[in-house]
Amino acid sequence: MDTLKSHAPPCKPGFTLGEAAMTIDKDEEGQFIVTTVRGTAHRAPIVMIAGGLGVFEPRKPPIANITDFEDKGVEYIIRNPEIYQDKVCVIAGGGDSALDWSIYLAERKIAKRVVLVHRSSSFRGHLDSVQRVIDMAESGEIDLVTEAEVTGLQGADHLEQVIVTHQKDGERSIAADHFIPLFGLKPSLGPIGDWGLEIDKSAIKVNTLDYSTNIPGIYAIGDVNTYENKLKLILCGFHEGTLAVQSAFARIHPEKKNVLKYTTVNGVNGF
Ligand SMILES: Cc1cc2nc3c(=O)[nH]c(=O)nc-3n(C[C@H](O)[C@H](O)[C@H](O)COP(=O)(O)OP(=O)(O)OC[C@H]3O[C@@H](n4cnc5c(N)ncnc54)[C@H](O)[C@@H]3O)c2cc1C
Repeated sequence: MDTLKSHAPPCKPGFTLGEAAMTIDKDEEGQFIVTTVRGTAHRAPIVMIAGGLGVFEPRKPPIANITDFEDKGVEYIIRNPEIYQDKVCVIAGGGDSALDWSIYLAERKIAKRVVLVHRSSSFRGHLDSVQRVIDMAESGEIDLVTEAEVTGLQGADHLEQVIVTHQKDGERSIAADHFIPLFGLKPSLGPIGDWGLEIDKSAIKVNTLDYSTNIPGIYAIGDVNTYENKLKLILCGFHEGTLAVQSAFARIHPEKKNVLKYTTVNGVNGF
């Protein structure tokens, strides 16, 4: 990274770090306005997207009405354990997050009751955590329901009941204040996915002539793009960026001739 950064100063770039680009608009002069999550707005004739795999979002279980209960009893990430004080919490999952949070909420007597639901009888988590959950289930500190899945949610203004379907015993309803599915994170394009770009399997389709997208003036380079024979390698991202910049220069300065120069001849500061 440091070596790469040392190439940047001759081009006098500006940096906006730690802020996700959220929206893109066009002003009356046809310039793009990209606005970040903190409201920083950048105006430019060209936008080059190098968003990699995008942002990571929680994997949601396939329960039809789950979004109705988001922030009303359903949480995919535990941010503040104190909100579970004296509540009945149903946690789902078989990895370290599900095991560790079940132990944490039960051991510290935060939750009134912790029910851990997992679709298999074996866990993917750390062996110590698996053993601790089994011990706590035996002592009655955690209700462990294996070979089962949460298949339904019910409630009026807030979650009230969680429907658990057991592979052999069928359905049962558990009165619960919170349902916390901890199934890990998956990459997603995030806000860029809503910019009107042509998307294929969470990546932006580009023309390999110049890595332009379906919106004139927007390019996509690196892991964020897709085309036939795409390889997600650093080398490929650099190649795509180089060709995209040539095309962008021609769009911004149609009257100018772009002469290719070599750093080996002119030096890094020779442009
Ligand atoms: C384990 C592993 C090993 C690898 N080894 C190699 C190797 O040996 N050789 C090789 O060539 N390649 C390797 N790769 C692939 C290489 O890491 C990628 O091809 C390269 O990092 C892609 O660069 P990028 O800039 O396109 O994306 P990234 O490096 O993923 O950067 C994208 C950035 O954009 C940010 N972002 C996303 N959305 C937004 C938004 N809306 N607003 C602002 N920022 C946003 C992300 O947070 C991220 O910081 C490896 C990959 C992995 C996972």
